[in-house]
Amino acid sequence: MLELENVIKRYGSLTALDGVSLKIEAGEFFGLLGPNGAGKSTLMSLVAGLRSPDAGHITVNRQALSNRPEARAALGLVPQHIALYPKLNADQNLRIFGQLYGLRGSVLRDRIDEGLEAMQLTDRRRDPVQNFSGGMQRRLNIVAALLHRPKLLLCDEPTAGVDPQSRNAIFEFLEKLNREGLTVIYSTHYMEEATRLCSRIGIIDHGKVPALGTLDELLLKLPFEEEIRFPLDDSTTPLAARLASCGAVEEGEGHFRFRPQPGYKLSSFYQLTESLGLPARLFTSQRPTLEAVFLHLTGRTLRE
Ligand code: ADP
Repeated sequence: MLELENVIKRYGSLTALDGVSLKIEAGEFFGLLGPNGAGKSTLMSLVAGLRSPDAGHITVNRQALSNRPEARAALGLVPQHIALYPKLNADQNLRIFGQLYGLRGSVLRDRIDEGLEAMQLTDRRRDPVQNFSGGMQRRLNIVAALLHRPKLLLCDEPTAGVDPQSRNAIFEFLEKLNREGLTVIYSTHYMEEATRLCSRIGIIDHGKVPALGTLDELLLKLPFEEEIRFPLDDSTTPLAARLASCGAVEEGEGHFRFRPQPGYKLSSFYQLTESLGLPARLFTSQRPTLEAVFLHLTGRTLRE
């Protein structure tokens, strides 16, 4: 449905997208996972046709985006920054967006009703948007992006500034639309969101996409299959120091995390802990997360 080929975008001397290629099939829930400044919004704005790439090609259903205004009609964008008229009420906002898409009369009225209902905003439809919480504004922005029934929805960090209740409502709504056939591209710097929502994930950092695949495929990129956690205290500090030569040891809040290097035998780990007199109950091993994949591929964490 959507293909990017070697796309480059510069802002002056800064290269925001540095040769990005990816393909997204109809019906996918595709995640773009990367920290702030990685290039997620830039990619979304190029796909939405708001900016043009400096090099490379973007095609929607094999048609170049630049030559086909109809291709853009198949897209809906939920921008990172809320784009609503604050003094107007929810209804008036949706009416304006709907009319921009060429919708009129009963079709527009029905779609507004359906959207407000789906995002649980019906009883607030006559309230000025400036009185809405961040989560409600975001939900309204999503309704606005869907009025013209796009086939592909671009959601650029749609949970920024959103309360947990609205976040869940947004997740469930997007999941339902995706089950009904909507293709979604969802950018986030939260690995939990990418893990929960996305059937495939592209890791993005410094304008490049170094890896892309299902969660399982991405986890296979790691040289280790599990990581071991243990409490951080005086008794375990010597162990952490000894493990530094056998893999990566990171300090978290109140715990250490050990990721063995390739070929390291866990039996050696348990021999070491025993020799230091540390009981087995201190250690939990767990399947690594996307965060570990990100660190492995980019050398930094998602929060950096
Ligand atoms: P993300 O959405 O992942 O946070 P962005 O696409 O917003 O990343 O930004 C990528 C890089 O491009 C960052 O270094 C950012 O500062 C820069 N950038 C984004 N928009 C502009 C702009 N309009 N002018 C100049 N630099 C920009």
